[in-house]
Amino acid sequence: ATTHKVTLIPGDGIGPEVTAATVSIIEAAAKTTGASFEWHRYDAGADAFAKTGEYIPKELYASIEENKVALKGPVTTPIGGGFSSINVTLRKKFDLYSNFRPVKNLPGLETKFPGIDMVIFRENTEDLYAGLEVMINPDIAQSLKIITRKGSTRIARSAFEFAKKSGRKKVHAIHKANIMKLSDGLFLKCCKEVAAEYPEITYAEHIVDNTCMQLVMNPWQYDVILTENLYGDILSDLCSGLIGGLGLVPGANLGVNCAIFEAVHGSAPDIAGQDKANPTALLQSALLMLRHLDEDATADIIQKALEAVYAEGKTLTRDVGGTSGTKAFADAVIAAM
Ligand code: NAD
Ligand code: MN
Repeated sequence: ATTHKVTLIPGDGIGPEVTAATVSIIEAAAKTTGASFEWHRYDAGADAFAKTGEYIPKELYASIEENKVALKGPVTTPIGGGFSSINVTLRKKFDLYSNFRPVKNLPGLETKFPGIDMVIFRENTEDLYAGLEVMINPDIAQSLKIITRKGSTRIARSAFEFAKKSGRKKVHAIHKANIMKLSDGLFLKCCKEVAAEYPEITYAEHIVDNTCMQLVMNPWQYDVILTENLYGDILSDLCSGLIGGLGLVPGANLGVNCAIFEAVHGSAPDIAGQDKANPTALLQSALLMLRHLDEDATADIIQKALEAVYAEGKTLTRDVGGTSGTKAFADAVIAAM
């Protein structure tokens, strides 16, 4: 069997706790399937800066370039100043234009919205995240929203190709083109053009504010959500709330050559270092990674065990109504294999 070399970025806040839990579960599963992993571990963010003088060490870039696959914990981004986001920097550096976030209930976990099964395709490299900001004068700030034909077309194509391959029936493009007639207008135009190539898939357009209401009234109407960077960021957190919170929803940042797998959630400083974090979101991100690496057998074993732990409901973390810690939860998943 081949040894998969994976760049591992534990991140900060709850990052080191959820990555340790996730790696321990993968290693336990790999023992039974014979899969083999080499974890190339790097810090990024404030911790890395303290050690190396760089927020993203050069060796980390080189490692991702070589391995093509990374598993990443969340990294804290300072508000209103300081260094620019490590996440945005990595996504742009490796041109990870497609942020894929599946939102699905876990078996046995009761929520107000049973039976949700949708995926979000968030454009991941442009929009207001271009970081083009200036103070016009001390009282006027300007942030530029960049939307391109290239960026919009390729995220639309990702969404429709996925829908086609996975047998999904509907793609909703989410926008605000009534107000941003040019930027969101261009985004919609590109979505519509791509949609025309997939006549078997229903295409619809919803305005983002209405979408928020629709999502909490009737989320079942959505199948594939296709949207820009900022709306995708916000809608992802909203959708995570539909199925039990940020502790659950995984993600993949996909480009042509590389992929970085990470949860939707951030570093959760309010619970960091207390063995309270739910590692499910990162673990499910790792499942996406294992399938990306064609390690389906290892992914299947973990997924079954994870579902069994949720179905039993006895060893869940606090965010989903349990009383267990991060480590105890991870041990329960391992025990369920
Ligand atoms: P957050 O996602 O870190 O936390 C929001 C709430 O959800 C908190 O109450 C937190 O305790 C809870 N939560 C999140 N993940 C959880 C988990 N796995 N288990 C249990 N509870 C969980 O959002 P925030 O507080 O707005 O952001 C904190 C920091 O994270 C910020 O610096 C932000 O920039 C950064 N961030 C990083 C990433 C990333 O690295 N990909 C993503 C989002 C936010
Ligand atoms: Mn976010």
